Order: sequence, then structure tokens, then C-alpha cells
Amino acid sequence: MSEEKTPGELRREELYYNPKSAWDGLADGEKEALETYCADYRKFLDLGKTERECADYTVRLAESSGFRSLVRGEPLNPGDKVYRVNRGKSVMLAVIGSEGLDKGVNIAASHIDSPRLDLKPNPLYESDEIAYFKTHYYGGLRKYQWVTIPLELHGVVAMKDGRSVQVCIGEEENDPIFTISDLLPHLAKDQSKKALNEAIPAENLNILVGSSPMPGDEGTDRVKLQVMDILNEKYGITEADFISAELSAVPAFRARDLGLDRSMIGAYGQDDRVCAYAGLAALLQLETPRRTAVCMLADKEEIGSDGVSGMQSEAFDTFIADLCRPGGIDPAVCMEQSFCLSTDVTAAYDPTYPEVFEKRNSALMGYGMGLCKYTGSGGKSGASDASAEVVARVRRILDDADVAWQMAELGRTDQGGGGTVALYLANRNIDTLDAGVPVLSMHSPFETTSKVDCYMTYKGVRAVYSD
Ligand code: MN
Ligand code: MN
Repeated sequence: MSEEKTPGELRREELYYNPKSAWDGLADGEKEALETYCADYRKFLDLGKTERECADYTVRLAESSGFRSLVRGEPLNPGDKVYRVNRGKSVMLAVIGSEGLDKGVNIAASHIDSPRLDLKPNPLYESDEIAYFKTHYYGGLRKYQWVTIPLELHGVVAMKDGRSVQVCIGEEENDPIFTISDLLPHLAKDQSKKALNEAIPAENLNILVGSSPMPGDEGTDRVKLQVMDILNEKYGITEADFISAELSAVPAFRARDLGLDRSMIGAYGQDDRVCAYAGLAALLQLETPRRTAVCMLADKEEIGSDGVSGMQSEAFDTFIADLCRPGGIDPAVCMEQSFCLSTDVTAAYDPTYPEVFEKRNSALMGYGMGLCKYTGSGGKSGASDASAEVVARVRRILDDADVAWQMAELGRTDQGGGGTVALYLANRNIDTLDAGVPVLSMHSPFETTSKVDCYMTYKGVRAVYSD
């Protein structure tokens, strides 16, 4: 039997776009590097279940890697490593390159907020001797997925005297946890007939927080009083302090290896902390790049990137201006010459639901970083649509660095859509391309990624920083 390829086979190899499993393309020793990277990534997930916690842990990692808080006006030299935290919720980091900032910067922009259940400003009530917190969901979540799962409570209570009380309940092994009830199947005849998006109304997402009455009291809300008494004992807060609090219920799951072959990671908040960690880990290892490298970890992406800590905030422009000013560079010139990889997750092709995907243009699990020329919905609406030249540049960078990548759309054109922070960078006159890790069950309490895709996205961002 001949081993030689036929002319047709050779021609196919030469002419066709043929993405391959990233697992098959790993070099010697890369499997170990991948596992080490993913173990660190799981820790990043476990220690950052809100954007505030994620920002805090980012600063800890950055400082232990030689970064310092940027002082406005200080001279900056090649190799300097600086960061700025925006209101505790967003972090911008930079490693100063050997070239001037008039040559532009290489940016990786991702977000560290994730869908969750925020407590309402007046959340605590009692109904039939059960105490609850009312919630207002944050981001595009499917409400039916958030009932009957274990929940933790994370956040801060800002006091009138300026103190900030940190709340974290459920993280420790012996902490209590929380949940939201749902109907038993025996009595769900009517609910089961409802459309999936109507079966659980937002006002039913009430978190169970107590059921025992305050001893020795005759009032009508003894369970609520008991709960408030516990909170007052532990945190020194009263009911009015909820008004100036940001408390969120997040899934009480730890990040875990998933699958018998341990090839995947299952965790809450991988959108978009998987790309945030890729951008951060790559930056922390940089020495002195040619162009200054910038890692942007934004807040509020899941609700439109508005607000002081979102990607649309001028905080980013101010950071770039503060990097430019010591060298007398116009920030507008810097941005015009800059390049951004908008690193956010994309939908992984799900073989259980092939009808919502267009397979030729879908990201496959295990096939590496997914590039998206455009996102948006209803005919690219809301997309920045990277130019062909920008995509070509990224193809060159990734191929030169042996990064497994694949070209993808989110799903079928008429099925829906979504956006990222890409357009807000592009609107600033920065060439921007979307790229990120394919995810199964995106926005659910427990999202799944492939380890090799996580690792390849880290390698891809590293190559962009180093270009
Ligand atoms: Mn995202
Ligand atoms: Mn999202």
C-alpha cells in the first residue's frame, strides 16, 4: 500500500482552510505548561467571583510580579510595570516598551464582571415566617438556571461614615449557603407549560435567608428580625445600610477539572475571566516589549459597558494619556497607532444543539482561540467589524507563534447575537479584533471551556503583546 499522497490530497492540503484539534498541535512539554496555567486560572476564578474580588486579586498578582501603582506625572522608562485600579472594579496595567508611545500600544481588553443576582436596595422581607432577599439580575441570564442551586453572597456595604464592610458568606467550608426555591414537579403542571423565559419571573428570584424566629418576641416579622440581628452582630449594619451596598449572589461552585480526561474546566464566571486571566498572565511575564503592552480588565460589559467602570468610561483614555504625557506624546496619536485584541468568550459549537449553529463558521471546543471579525446581531448591528487588514495581521502573529486558532461567528445569523467591548476600543480609533475562548453554556451558573483553548488564548495574547 502506497504511503504517498495523491495529487488531489496534496492540492487539498495546499488550498483549503482546515483547522485542526489544538491538542494534536501541542509541542513537547506544552501539556505540562497547559496544566500549570489552568491550575493558576482555576485559582483566579475561585478568588474572584465579583469584579471587585477579581480586581483585588489582580493587584496582588501584579505587585508580586513587580508592578507598581501608576503615579500621575512620574517618568516612565522601558520595562516599567504599572497599573491603575478604577474604583475597585476595573484594572488597567501596562509594561512600557522600548519604542515611544507615539508608535502605539498593543492592548488586550476583557471584562471581569459576570452575570449574577444583585440584591435590590431594600432586599430583606419576611413572608409566612420565611425571610428572603429580593434580587435584580445582572446581565443576560436564563432565570430558570439560577433556582435550586447553592449560592454564596459576596460584596460590600458602604457605610455613611466612609467605612466599607466586606461581605463574603459561603466561601468557607463551614459557612452557610443560600438558594432560591422552585416548584416540585408534582405541582408544576401550569408552570411547566410556560415558555422557558416566562416560567421563572424575575420577582420570583428571591433568596432564602432564614426561617427561625427571634426568641422572646411577639412581632409579626420575627424571622426577618432574627436575620437582621445576625447581620448586625456580624457586620455592624442596619437595614438602611443595604441602600448603599453592592451585594451579589453568585454560584457556590468551585472551578473544577471536567471530564474523565480532565480536558475541560467547569466554573462560574468564565465569561470573561478566562480571557481576563489570559491577558493578565501574559502581561505579568513580559520583560520589555517593543511596543508598550496594555491589559484592560473592564467592568459592566454584561450590562452594556456604560458607567465609570465600564469600557466606555474615559478612565481608559485618562490612563493612556497618563502613560503618554511624560514622553510628551499626544494620546490621540498613540491610539491611532495602537492595536487591540478584544478578548472575550465566544459560543462553542454544541453538538446537542446543532440547530442554532452554522458549523462551518463556528468555534469548536479544543480547536484553539476563536477569532471573530465581527459580533453583533441582526446583520452585524452593533459590531465594529475589524478590517481585513487587521485580521491578516493577527493571522500572521498567531501563526508565527504556533498558536492554534479558528475563525468563528457566534451562531446562526438569524438566531440572536451578542457584543463585546470591541466597538468601544474601535470607536477610539484603535484597530480592534475580537478573539477569545469558546464556551459551552455561556452565562449559566456553570460554564465549560476546553483547557487547550484557555492555554492557546493565553499564548495568542502573549504573541500580540510581543509583536
Ligand atoms: Mn463576555
Ligand atoms: Mn457575557
